[in-house]
Amino acid sequence: MNAQRLSERLTRVASYVKTGAIVADIGSDHAYLPCYLIHHQIAEKAIAGEVAKGPYDSARNQIMDEKLENKITVRFANGLKAINHEDLVDTVTIAGMGGPLIASILDQDSDRLATVNRLILQPNIHAKAIREWANANDWKLVAEEILQEDDKIYEILVLERGKMTLSETEFLMGPFLITDTQNEVFRLKWEKESTEWMRILEAIRVAGLSSEVQLKKEEIEVKLKIVKEVFGA
Ligand code: SAM
Repeated sequence: MNAQRLSERLTRVASYVKTGAIVADIGSDHAYLPCYLIHHQIAEKAIAGEVAKGPYDSARNQIMDEKLENKITVRFANGLKAINHEDLVDTVTIAGMGGPLIASILDQDSDRLATVNRLILQPNIHAKAIREWANANDWKLVAEEILQEDDKIYEILVLERGKMTLSETEFLMGPFLITDTQNEVFRLKWEKESTEWMRILEAIRVAGLSSEVQLKKEEIEVKLKIVKEVFGA
């Protein structure tokens, strides 16, 4: 992967950026996504935010190599501290992390989202944490996508400002994704999750129950029931 030839995962993230957007890519690593967005004349300007020195240096070198310094600013910062109101960022992308980490990045310094009207988030796991954060903070899902690349399954969640009402099933599995239960990747994801939950339940059964474990067991049983209902099993 490089800035010219993005992974399928990041190409799909890029496809939700509107033409002319001012984008902040938080946790940008090599800044491949911002470089792609500028090269393809999708974004007008971009900020690449990074909290770790190595990836921050990689992003800076990438942007210098590609001679994109006039279009992309790299900032060494934790989460949304990479952006200020004066940047007039309208789109934030956060990709390649767990859902809870993405939700916590959005939760800290959320006042810095004042000018932002679109969030494009790509959690590797636990997308539910993002749906819960969105629901509590007046963001609504406008699109969702699931894809498989190199044996890994990824979800993309696109949010705009507004309210939504989700059922427990929709929080877990996604209100858009759940409308296509024939989607092979969607089925595979929940087969894998269910197998893992059943493995944990068996381990709990063998080990015996503390009250904490009892709670975990009940939580898993509820999730298994939801998934079974969705697939009519
Ligand atoms: N976004 C790229 C992608 O999807 O390929 C890189 C993903 S990489 C697995 C995660 C990156 O996020 C790392 O470079 C890490 O340093 C950065 N990161 C993690 N927490 C962060 C935070 N709070 N603020 C900024 N960057 C963060």
